[in-house]
Amino acid sequence: MTEQRDELLGRRRLHLRLRFLAGESTGSYVTRLASRNRLPVEAVLRSMGTGPMPVDPQYTELYLSRYARERLATLAGYTVAEMQTRLVSLRDAFLMPDGAEDDWEWPWDARAGYLVQACSLCAARRGTRSPAWLILPDPWHVCLRHQRWTDNSRNAQHPYIDLSGLKDVIRAQRRLNHLGRQLGPAVRWVFADACSILACSRYLEDPAQTEEWAFLATQLGERRVRPLAQLSVLSLLTRDLAWLEVRRLHGDLGRAGYREWLDRVTRRHGYAFAGPLREWHSKHRPLGRGFPELFGDQPPPGNVVLRVTGHELPSCLAAVEDLSCLPWVRLPNAMDRLFL
Ligand SMILES: [Zn+2]
Repeated sequence: MTEQRDELLGRRRLHLRLRFLAGESTGSYVTRLASRNRLPVEAVLRSMGTGPMPVDPQYTELYLSRYARERLATLAGYTVAEMQTRLVSLRDAFLMPDGAEDDWEWPWDARAGYLVQACSLCAARRGTRSPAWLILPDPWHVCLRHQRWTDNSRNAQHPYIDLSGLKDVIRAQRRLNHLGRQLGPAVRWVFADACSILACSRYLEDPAQTEEWAFLATQLGERRVRPLAQLSVLSLLTRDLAWLEVRRLHGDLGRAGYREWLDRVTRRHGYAFAGPLREWHSKHRPLGRGFPELFGDQPPPGNVVLRVTGHELPSCLAAVEDLSCLPWVRLPNAMDRLFL
């Protein structure tokens, strides 16, 4: 027999509210909310309906039914709209189907995005001592405030990488953030294309082979260090692709500017990048008419964006391999779940 919801539960907010952490997973948030109120996670879940036992939020994401989402918002003391803005997995796209037997589930793995440990100093500023977890479209996170790199490695010995001696990585992240403000939604596909070009060029595929990264690679494993070692060039590639893409989308890209771009950027990055850059260039020809609507407050529907730009409108947790128009980004497989 199916367990019954106790509808009397979850109608009042818990005693203590919890500050949001940017990009946090729902599982992490619910676990922290329970701990802040000195309750077992089971008790908070029970106030949200019926469903399976809790799982440590480092392993998977928690997805809710519409009913449980409303109850959670009440318990947390926010509106559903506020909760959805701050916790992306609570958005409609990730809700459990209406009529599902349970009010929550912890599937084998997150349905979209990667679980990355939050910067523990940022978490501490929000009153949390135990690890908090983010759900992000990339398997790493850079905290610029505390100069820490975290990822999905679940390495208890080295939960983060100190960036204070790796200024190039900090600079690269600042550059990417700046491009994000300039390009709006297009930054995700420009970044995805840059990742694909980088993969095709095989640049720093094995950071252990270089003097600069060998030590860190021995200590942390070459796979964990690779994105860190590549970030600088990745950000410069993103910047160069963005130069062309932002002009193309605004309708300011002349024929000469378009032609000259390929030579200039190939010279800057070197021969290994010539082939993939040429292919990217051929797929991003000047548009007959600009597409400034993309940068407005109300982006046009996804099918229009795809037809005009050749790229899908990125959803909040879309991975680079789903966004690039180039084929070289490796699809993540079970081996990419570093902690397994
Ligand atoms: Zn931090």
